[in-house]
Amino acid sequence: MKRRMTRQRQMVLDVIRGHGNHMHAEDVLERLSENSGIGLATVYRNLNVLCEEGKIQKVSGNHFSFYDGNPEPHDHLYCVRCGKVMDVDMAYDKQMDQNVSEFLHVDIYSHSVTYEGLCPNCLKEEE
Ligand SMILES: [Zn+2]
Ligand SMILES: [Zn+2]
Repeated sequence: MKRRMTRQRQMVLDVIRGHGNHMHAEDVLERLSENSGIGLATVYRNLNVLCEEGKIQKVSGNHFSFYDGNPEPHDHLYCVRCGKVMDVDMAYDKQMDQNVSEFLHVDIYSHSVTYEGLCPNCLKEEE
């Protein structure tokens, strides 16, 4: 079943793509205009549908969880101090998929890595 893009869903997508891509549902809600009439439950529902449709992706691990307006597989740095998320803008490493598929004798379609560490700002404070 192909769902049509509702006005609300488009608004959620515009917010997440318009603000550097990495957001929590609460951030999306905060950025929506007050008269959007959208509540947190609706934001979550729309984010999940957008994930299902492959328009955005959800990235999560033990210490972090965020929605990314860019659905392509790519790596991130998660700052353990301030919670900032940065894209690692390096070329996608296809060789890694190849190595792992040979090592495990499986088919690999994609991978993405989230590094945990300190962002440039927090690193400066450290010095
Ligand atoms: Zn930081
Ligand atoms: Zn990203």
